[in-house]
Amino acid sequence: MRKHFVGVTVKKVSSSRDCANPDCKKSFMPRVYNAIYCNAECRKIITNQKVLQRYYDKKARLNSRRTCLTKACGTRLSRYNEEDICEQCKRERFIMRLIGWGWSESKVRRDFE
Ligand SMILES: [Zn+2]
Ligand SMILES: [Zn+2]
Repeated sequence: MRKHFVGVTVKKVSSSRDCANPDCKKSFMPRVYNAIYCNAECRKIITNQKVLQRYYDKKARLNSRRTCLTKACGTRLSRYNEEDICEQCKRERFIMRLIGWGWSESKVRRDFE
């Protein structure tokens, strides 16, 4: 199928692109404008890799002992905390944001105590 495309018209090559699968990188003619893989197989390989990568990233995050990134805080982060700072610092960040929006600092702090 589509064998007749192989090696035809040099003119058309200007619109061909390389497969986004680094193990393939085959030059191909996209059938749809946003195609980035030469075929469904390559797309499947990369998609699976991404899914796996996400899985491992998540696993690594859950298994690692993380501490709050705020300087001079160092609170151990809960494994359920998806961010890099602790609950306390998140609250502080939120307060600072409200103050940045024009809220009164004393009122905000009172409300959050
Ligand atoms: Zn490919
Ligand atoms: Zn913190």
